[in-house]
Amino acid sequence: MFLTISTTGTPERPATDLGFLLHKHPESAQAFSTSYGTAHVLYPEASAERCTAALLLEVDPVALVRRSKGKGGQGKTADAALAQYVNDRPYAASSLLAVALSTVFSSALRGVCKARPERAEEPLALRVEVPALPARGGPDLVRKLFEPLGWTVGVESVALDEQFPEWGESRYVRLVLEGELRLAQALRHLYVLLPVLDDAKHYWVSADEVDKLLRAGEGWLAGHPEQRLITSRYLSRRWSLTRQAMQRLELVRLADADDTDVEEIDNAVDESTDTEEKPVPLAVRRREAILDALRTSGAARVLDLGCGQGQLVQELLKDVRFTEIVGLDVSVRALTIAGRRLKLERMGERQASRVRLVQGSLAYTDKRLKGYDAAVLSEVIEHLDLPRLPALEYAVFGSARPRTVLVTTPNVEYNVRWETLPAGHVRHGDHRFEWTREEFRTWAERVAGRHGYDVRYVPVGPDDPEVGPPTQMAVFTVQETPKAAEKTEKAEKAEKEAAA
Ligand code: SAH
Repeated sequence: MFLTISTTGTPERPATDLGFLLHKHPESAQAFSTSYGTAHVLYPEASAERCTAALLLEVDPVALVRRSKGKGGQGKTADAALAQYVNDRPYAASSLLAVALSTVFSSALRGVCKARPERAEEPLALRVEVPALPARGGPDLVRKLFEPLGWTVGVESVALDEQFPEWGESRYVRLVLEGELRLAQALRHLYVLLPVLDDAKHYWVSADEVDKLLRAGEGWLAGHPEQRLITSRYLSRRWSLTRQAMQRLELVRLADADDTDVEEIDNAVDESTDTEEKPVPLAVRRREAILDALRTSGAARVLDLGCGQGQLVQELLKDVRFTEIVGLDVSVRALTIAGRRLKLERMGERQASRVRLVQGSLAYTDKRLKGYDAAVLSEVIEHLDLPRLPALEYAVFGSARPRTVLVTTPNVEYNVRWETLPAGHVRHGDHRFEWTREEFRTWAERVAGRHGYDVRYVPVGPDDPEVGPPTQMAVFTVQETPKAAEKTEKAEKAEKEAAA
């Protein structure tokens, strides 16, 4: 089983950076043992202009059979038993190659590259070649799977036997993919789609496969026209897992949905309250309140988590005290729009060095987010299902742990003041919940107590005496005294007691 990944470069941006991105040195051939045999990584060519990495998996058919024992591998007919030893496995790329890919290039799959972080973030001119790929569904399906992801697809059926063309095509294709993609994204496409095309998993499919699929599918699977087929085949047609995955993908897709209606409604309310002067949209007031709080905190390195289309990042860039600004969002589409808004391409080097847009999900801890002064979660928490919220809490307050965290969210009590909103309706179709001031404070106190932060509250927009402001903001500041751990224990104990 064989796969090559090539890229091109220039003396300033050498193609051999591929070695850094894959965490495998171009000058040495390396071997790794995997559960199914030995995986070799070597570079048939490695110059500044062109570099190719090859992954070769030497399958150990005996190990393969042993592994399947006790997992439905027993009690087979003699034919089936023989087929386990005499088959195409050693030659054809398949799900085993995907497993090898994830073992050997695990950091690259996650997009991590300490030596060349900037190159890991940017698209490379890539060419991937798989000479023999079992493809159920043939060349048509291969195109349907890879083309929507931005690849130019070259696919040829391989004849069953070149001596006897009348025997027709085999179920194998020769695949060549070309495109400008981030390496991590390309590897994730292969990691998921090679087994999907092979359509015969060689290891047991368990519930954590859904997590694996969603992690590898982040940023491209939700919204893929063949999402259902991909999900179902990847999960070996296990219906309950497929349904679970489809539901979670639907949530991601909703989170990707355009946020224009938020701003529309924000604009509408201010028009009704402020008739004399030109109304200030609520979104603008929110950004002002956030900037004020950030300046007061003294932060220089700031994360905008769930940055959406980059409006806040744009404001942050205007103030030189913010020396490093990272906008993160789960939605590639939002990030693309943000990149355009910021004119990243045309930005001077100095300015560009202050800002970065990265794709990621707040539902997972992320090492890239550690060590910042402040993090902003502006109108983000209400986009997560309540059961997913603790994961975000841990990722931000437990793992990333910036000194200051700003969280804004709608105040549902204010909704009665919005003439445009039918009573009892949340403001945005994708809001999973909207909280009263009381509910928000209960949440904030719990999170602060658990993770060792102090919290104060700032109203945003007109503070109505009866129902409060339209937006509520919590400002969390990490406690200087190292009481955090003790506090956490205490809070946990208290929670346990309360539950008992
Ligand atoms: N902060 C911006 C956008 C708010 S809309 C503003 O104040 O205008 C909510 C944003 O959160 C969307 O861009 C959505 O893609 C993003 N989002 C939702 N769930 C997310 C998650 N799990 N991880 C990262 N971003 C997420």
